[in-house]
Amino acid sequence: MNENVCKHCGQVVMPGMRCDCPGAQMEKRTEMQKVKAHEAINVLFGEQCKADGYEPVSEEELRALKKLSDYVAERKLISASALLGGDVKAKFVRGSEGRVKIERSESKKSQTEIGYWSN
Ligand SMILES: [Zn+2]
Repeated sequence: MNENVCKHCGQVVMPGMRCDCPGAQMEKRTEMQKVKAHEAINVLFGEQCKADGYEPVSEEELRALKKLSDYVAERKLISASALLGGDVKAKFVRGSEGRVKIERSESKKSQTEIGYWSN
């Protein structure tokens, strides 16, 4: 396979250059979006979330979330949600203008039960 042929339009491109057809431009935007989404996931779910009073999720969970956000950015999924340890929920939604929305939520519940004694 010749690497210098654009896989979107079949046009021959110079080595090290990128084709500027719509398909190639879309791919470039998607790649940028994936990188930005990974950064956002690090902020919301990684070590950096401690600053906002959240508990970071595991490395493995971070990897899984990035994979899910890739699928949404690549338009393979319209939305994706995941339930992580500690009741942490992650949601990825592709919205208008191709934006990917990333949401973290967790059900923080405090509960106690007080019994009663009849004696
Ligand atoms: Zn092209």
